[in-house]
Amino acid sequence: MHGMEYDTLIPQDREPIGKDPFTFHCHPDVPCFLKCCRDVHLPLYPYDILLLKKQLGITSGEVIERYTELTEGSHPYFPGLRLKLFDDTARSCPFLSGDGCTVYVNRPTSCRTYPLERGLECTGKGGDIKVHHFLTHHPYCKGHFESRTYTLKQWERDQNLHQCNLMNDLWAELDAFFATNPWVGEGQAGPYQRLAFMAVYNIDDFRSYTQQHHIIEQFKLPKDERRRIQKDDESLLQFSFKWLESILGGRKRLLKK
Ligand code: SF4
Ligand code: SF4
Repeated sequence: MHGMEYDTLIPQDREPIGKDPFTFHCHPDVPCFLKCCRDVHLPLYPYDILLLKKQLGITSGEVIERYTELTEGSHPYFPGLRLKLFDDTARSCPFLSGDGCTVYVNRPTSCRTYPLERGLECTGKGGDIKVHHFLTHHPYCKGHFESRTYTLKQWERDQNLHQCNLMNDLWAELDAFFATNPWVGEGQAGPYQRLAFMAVYNIDDFRSYTQQHHIIEQFKLPKDERRRIQKDDESLLQFSFKWLESILGGRKRLLKK
């Protein structure tokens, strides 16, 4: 979102929320239980791929191959990923069982955030991002008629959203940079765009790539950060965001040796 009036950004069926509590409770006894896990458009962000990889004990490439499909991104210059639903009449989420979500602990961000949605407004000042929250109302969702209330902060704590939001905000900054079309000259799906796709979504391949090309060693990094990057995917993903922006002509937040 760039330089638009805030009011024009609010879709019609969504209500902006601030500090006041909203009414919602989802539990196995609601008549609509698990209805929202079928026939759903569920975007998957780079950090969601890490969560699913961890939960399923498979590689990021396998997560992408088995459970995702390409979709439109937030702008025309970089594709997004979404969950690939079962190809049956119910179009169920592949992680849905009769008892509920089989990846609950590491479920994707959108599943945790619902019934809220986060809208990120890029203010254009050094990549700063302003966050807006909306309450969605889907006619089938009966959770809005329950008696429990939450504030935004309580909901985020309850759904363990802190780390997802942090990682997704970093991704949104990079994606806002991608919206400036840094691929000019190579067009869509050119070598840099394919490299970027791998670096943001396929962390295992990106790890092999950094080792093969000695990428991490080329930058001045504090020892503990270097160690974290070498051992955990989350730190490597944060590195990948900074590295891509830097090699594609954006902010230089990594210092070359
Ligand atoms: S209350 Fe809403 S979120 Fe919960 S199961 Fe029903 S449709 Fe899904
Ligand atoms: S990942 Fe879990 S919560 Fe999300 S749609 Fe699938 S079954 Fe539902």
